[in-house]
Amino acid sequence: MAKDYYGILGVPRDATADDIKRAYRKLARQYHPDINPDPVAQERFKEINSAYEVLSDDQKRQIVDLGGDPLSPGAGMGPGGPGAGGPFVGFQDIMDAFFGTAAGGARGPRPRTRPGADAILPLPLELNETAFGVEAPITVDTATLCQTCRGAGTAPGTHLATCEVCGGRGEVQSVQRTFLGQVVSSRPCSACAGYGTVITNPCPGCAGDGRVRTRRTLTVKIPAGVEDQMRIRLAGQGEVGPGGGPAGDLYVEIHERPHDVFSRKGDDLHCRVTLPMTAAALGTRLTIKTLDGEENIECRAGTQPGSTLRIRGKGVPHLRGAGRGDLFVHLDVRTPTKLDAEQERILREFAKTRGEEVAELSKQGGFFSRMRDAFNGHA
Ligand SMILES: [Zn+2]
Ligand SMILES: [Zn+2]
Repeated sequence: MAKDYYGILGVPRDATADDIKRAYRKLARQYHPDINPDPVAQERFKEINSAYEVLSDDQKRQIVDLGGDPLSPGAGMGPGGPGAGGPFVGFQDIMDAFFGTAAGGARGPRPRTRPGADAILPLPLELNETAFGVEAPITVDTATLCQTCRGAGTAPGTHLATCEVCGGRGEVQSVQRTFLGQVVSSRPCSACAGYGTVITNPCPGCAGDGRVRTRRTLTVKIPAGVEDQMRIRLAGQGEVGPGGGPAGDLYVEIHERPHDVFSRKGDDLHCRVTLPMTAAALGTRLTIKTLDGEENIECRAGTQPGSTLRIRGKGVPHLRGAGRGDLFVHLDVRTPTKLDAEQERILREFAKTRGEEVAELSKQGGFFSRMRDAFNGHA
C-alpha cells in the first residue's frame, strides 16, 4: 500500500513546489526533535521528511501520482505487479523486481565516503540548572576524522588500487535464464565490498576506516526552562562517517535529577509543608524555600490538611516566551502526639468550650490495645 505523502504534508495533489516547501517547513518546525522531544513527534518528523523527499523530487512525485511508492523496494510498480504501473515502469524496474535491488539505486561503485551517524549523550542536571539554564562541559566520545590520512584510509604516500575482480565497477554481473529469456543481473563485488577500489596499504592511524574514536570536551549551553528528556542538537558534532564523511549531529539529552524538596510538573513546582495543628488553627506566617531564595507567605487561620497555597511566578521559567510557572505549597497538618498531663488538660478544656465530646480512654490502654491483649492471652 503506497503511503499518502500528500496527506502527510497536508497539501492537495495539485500543490505547487512552493506549496510543498512551505507546508514542509511549517511541519518540520513543529515536529523537530529539538523542539518536540516526544517519541511520537519524532516518528512524525521522519514521516514529514520522507514525504518532502518524495514530493520535492519530480521523478519520485510522478511515481506517487501513478500509485506507486518510490521509497519502498520494488518502487515504481503499481499494485498489480510488474508491468501494471503505467508507462514509466521500464525494464530496469522489472529487473529490480526480479533481483531485489533497490529501484533507481545508483549503479557502479559505492562511495567510500559516507555521512556519519547522529550521536546521543545523556546529560544529568539539577533542577536549578534546568530551570535557569547552564553552560555545561560535556565529554564526547565519537568517531572523528583520522588526522594521519584525513579520511582517505590509505597509508601516507600510498593510494587506493582499482579492484582487480570487478575492474573498478564495484559490481559483478552474472547471466541467468528466466522465462523472459537470458538476463544479466549484477550484484556488489565481494572482493572490494562494492567500492571498486581496495586499500592495499591501510593507514596505520585508523586501519583504513578514515576515522578514529576520540574523546573531547565541549561546552553546551542549556537554555532556561528545559525539561527532562528534551534534546539539544549540536550540528556536526556527531559521528564522522566512514572514509571521513561529514559528521552527524550530536543530541544532548537532558536528564533532570529528582529534587529533594520540589517535584516538577511542566513549569510548575510542588512542595509539601507540615504545620502543627495549632498553627493551622490560628494561622501563621511561613518561610518557604523557593528556587530563588526564601519567600514569606501567610497561612490563614483554619487551614485544613490538604489545602494548597500558590506562589505565582516562583516555578520554572518558560522555555519559550516570557514568564514562569508557579510554586504550589501543599499543606499537611500534624496532630500532636505524646501530650503531657498539662497539655492534655488544656486540650480537654478547649474541647469542652467548643462543645466537642471527647470520650476518655482507660489508663490501661484503649479499646484496641485491650483487644490485642485478649488475642495474646493477657486478658
Ligand atoms: Zn587514517
Ligand atoms: Zn571489486
